Amino acid sequence: MREDCWPRPRARLRRHLLTLAIESSCDDSAVAVLEKHGPPQPGRPAVRIRYHEKITSNNLAYKGVHPLEALHSHEENLANLVARAMLHLPKAALRPQPPCPDVVQVHPRSGSDDTCPSLWNVRKPDLVTVTRGPGMRSNLNAGLNLAKGLAVAWNRPLLGVHHMQAHALTPRMVNALEETPDTGSFKPSFPFLSLLVSGGHTLLTLSRGLTDHEQLAGTVDVAIGDAIDKIAREVLPDDVMNSSAGTMYGPALEQFAFPDGPDGRRYDLPATRAAELDRYTSLDGAWSLAPLLAVSRSGSRTNDLAFSFTGLCSSVKRATHQLLKYQRSFLEDQRRELATHAMRLAFEHLASRVWLALKHAPEIRTVVVSGGVASNCYLRQILRTYLGNRGFGHVDLIFPPLHLCVDNAIMIGWAGIEMYEEGWQSELSIRSLKKWSLDSRSEDGGILGASGWRRREESSNTPTSLHHEINE
Ligand code: AMP
Ligand code: ZN
Repeated sequence: MREDCWPRPRARLRRHLLTLAIESSCDDSAVAVLEKHGPPQPGRPAVRIRYHEKITSNNLAYKGVHPLEALHSHEENLANLVARAMLHLPKAALRPQPPCPDVVQVHPRSGSDDTCPSLWNVRKPDLVTVTRGPGMRSNLNAGLNLAKGLAVAWNRPLLGVHHMQAHALTPRMVNALEETPDTGSFKPSFPFLSLLVSGGHTLLTLSRGLTDHEQLAGTVDVAIGDAIDKIAREVLPDDVMNSSAGTMYGPALEQFAFPDGPDGRRYDLPATRAAELDRYTSLDGAWSLAPLLAVSRSGSRTNDLAFSFTGLCSSVKRATHQLLKYQRSFLEDQRRELATHAMRLAFEHLASRVWLALKHAPEIRTVVVSGGVASNCYLRQILRTYLGNRGFGHVDLIFPPLHLCVDNAIMIGWAGIEMYEEGWQSELSIRSLKKWSLDSRSEDGGILGASGWRRREESSNTPTSLHHEINE
């Protein structure tokens, strides 16, 4: 730290870690500024979100994510988001004059006006975090190349984050946003189970440590969010579809099935596991739905640690076809019944796999459920009832707030900070990874199996603000 450009520490001293984070793996362009405070202070959160903004590409015309449309959206929006994020970096207290290694100047108005004297001096982030993979390659590159440019310009370390690791660590970040644990370690502590249910993923993982995640179950076909959207497109009446603001039809499906909200919902768990494997036949007898991965009563697939949803999508399609062709009607009540039972079967399928995993790992006390589908109240009800009635009532179910468990840049910043504090940073030469397993037992070696990791050397790579206490 240079004495002439940074104010002397005052009374209350802390150590900080400040990151600018970028997420662009799919159709969301997101940028965050996240600040982790130093020594624990009772009653005070360990982490503060200084800025977060996300722009989702307009996919309406395609009824789903369109990779090129999403790329164009990143190209148009990411740099502007970074420019806005920089206005939210902490102000440098005593107007140090550049050049100063810890300070950068920003202009508070968009578009630079050289005649305007009101440039702000703000603290440079201590590290730049960015999603490296998995995801759509060009989309990842839009964020990664921008992050590399910032890391070079600011002379700061780069940290290429595994997107799914960031999802898995989200509940720890939520804890850090609420408090600073006395012990210094965030909750849930390892090990814990994570069920990630989103538009692109259906994953059940066992997290034993920061980089030690075992994938217990994944989908053999489509992701649950994708299946929910397909089912919604079959079942929802045109007026509901047309009034949807985006292509995420899950909330509309839930709202349509349960117009009276959570109070109007009823869920009776079948008395036995065997009874769960019965087909459901509609009230008018016109259609039926089979439980997922339970085609045979011999039990051949019922205990598979895997997810599958295409069978359900096909059955729903068949049911609507049946109703329209032979009954020439698809009344609101029929649609509602189909929507409810399709969701019930999909969610019981999820619950049964969590239950199977818990039976094999009795030491687990926490299950984290995240991803867009986790906001569904019927899913939450089914998971609670299922685990409670099948011997796992003592297990804590955690549902992070929705804005933190869908794709966002805050979780990328947090995962980057956790990795950095563990001593990791990335080479500037890292390339984006379209596929990148989370599981260290997989062929590619998981998170640390990727090339380009570098052990952080405190002396040369660590920003000055990590070595020196600074005042706010
Ligand atoms: P994500 O990929 O995490 O951003 O989540 C998006 C997916 O979650 C989309 O497929 C949505 O349809 C689905 N989703 C969001 N809210 C709900 C809900 N309340 N019920 C069911 N699915 C939902
Ligand atoms: Zn995601």
